[in-house]
Amino acid sequence: MLTKTDFIQYLNCLESLWLLKNQPDDYPNGEFSLFLQKLIEEGYEVEEQAQKLFPHGIELPEFGTPKDTQKILQNGGLCFFQAAFETNIGVFARVDILEHLPNNTWHLYEVKSSTSVKTDKKHNHLKDACFQKYVLEQNGLSVSNVSIIHLNKEYVRNGEIDLEQLLNIEDVTEKIRGLYSEVSIEIEQAAHYINQKSIDTSQCSCRLNTRSNHCDSFSFFNTEIPEFSIYEIGNIRANKIQDLNNEGVLSIGEIPNNFKLNAKQELQIESFRHRKPIIEKARIAKILSSLEFPLHFIDYETYASAVPKIDGVRPHQHIPFQVSIHTIQSDGSIEHFEFLAHELEIPTQMVQFMSDSTGTIGTFISWHKSFEMGRNKDMIEWLPQYQEYLEFMNSNMFDLEDIFKSEYVDYRFHGSTSIKKVLPVLLPELSYDDLGVQNGTMALDLWGRMVLDKNFKEDKAQVRAALLEYCKLDTWAMVMLFKKLKETTKKRKIQHGIQSRK
Ligand code: SF4
Repeated sequence: MLTKTDFIQYLNCLESLWLLKNQPDDYPNGEFSLFLQKLIEEGYEVEEQAQKLFPHGIELPEFGTPKDTQKILQNGGLCFFQAAFETNIGVFARVDILEHLPNNTWHLYEVKSSTSVKTDKKHNHLKDACFQKYVLEQNGLSVSNVSIIHLNKEYVRNGEIDLEQLLNIEDVTEKIRGLYSEVSIEIEQAAHYINQKSIDTSQCSCRLNTRSNHCDSFSFFNTEIPEFSIYEIGNIRANKIQDLNNEGVLSIGEIPNNFKLNAKQELQIESFRHRKPIIEKARIAKILSSLEFPLHFIDYETYASAVPKIDGVRPHQHIPFQVSIHTIQSDGSIEHFEFLAHELEIPTQMVQFMSDSTGTIGTFISWHKSFEMGRNKDMIEWLPQYQEYLEFMNSNMFDLEDIFKSEYVDYRFHGSTSIKKVLPVLLPELSYDDLGVQNGTMALDLWGRMVLDKNFKEDKAQVRAALLEYCKLDTWAMVMLFKKLKETTKKRKIQHGIQSRK
């Protein structure tokens, strides 16, 4: 059976869909599964709101079959939710909202949790809608209108949800008409492709593409790719990957001396060749000594939902619910401040706590500062009484990640400057591995369920302790990396012996 989700996957990558359908045991779950689960839940949330626009809608049974749908359609009715259909070549659709029009044609509605109709490579909502129309028409239903219902990014909740404001209904009938025959052919090709008994699994199309395009099946299809491969070179372009592949080069260590790369990429290769980091000690020392004490290492955890749950919030807007701050004074003493909200709210208490803890003095240090700064801007809108404090923080924010973009390059970071890649190399004793909460998505999900789900069964005290421990490690890790950098720059021994490849 080919579902709409399968078809979207097929459009992105046919090989990974074949693997999923034919060798599911070899198909990796992927580290984004919790993230994808959140996306699916968001979809349901928006669908629940969209259904309210059709008060006469008839809900079909959850997981109902095409047979169930046929029975219910025969009983009459004007609007149906989750009607299921299947074609004779096994193409299956469950339609979000289907409305029967007086001229015996149908209006198909696709509901999306995004804030626009997307047509990029990874999400093509028009092709999704085409898929649904194809299945309906193959079942003899004439689809005269197609609309996509999505969120309005300007909507700000104020009291009860205002459906007219929250949702935009975009008529895409004409656009679908233009795409229909092309997509019908693609659907039939996809159905044929997944039914093939075998495909060439010795390599896949991403062999010639950059890492950001790879999925978790890359290593299944490309078993001979070594550790520290060309795909790990920071920001390498696809044309360079193709050139190297043409020369049979897969390992960083095999890259010819005359192969053109940018200065940062050259450093990564030098680091690999000499099996040691390349550290611009003088520059790092200068940057770090320019930071004004006290130094406040800060990290937020945030909650976001497709449909805003509290007043003042827009769809998908992040609401900070937790902060950890480690403050180092000029005498070297360190203090820790932490706050974890008990309920979903505009973070007035949290900002008051932060302001009491740090005051408007010193430097704030985060990792990937655009995230913290963006949240501060949101909080200024919600809480203008804290504008001065939050603006001070943003004007005095230093991004520790920047050091690892050019001043400290180590091949063992695998071409990434994420703290999750840097920390295990420089401070292996500080690990996230044993923590109950391992990343921001998990923190958002766990805290969200704890404060919003009435049926939350886990021990709340334990969950709070796990969340506090996770956020604390985020800022403690920055403190220790900062100290490590200081120590490194103090060492008199200057790194000699690293010669240019050219
Ligand atoms: S790595 Fe790319 S081509 Fe290979 S299976 Fe994944 S998405 Fe498809």
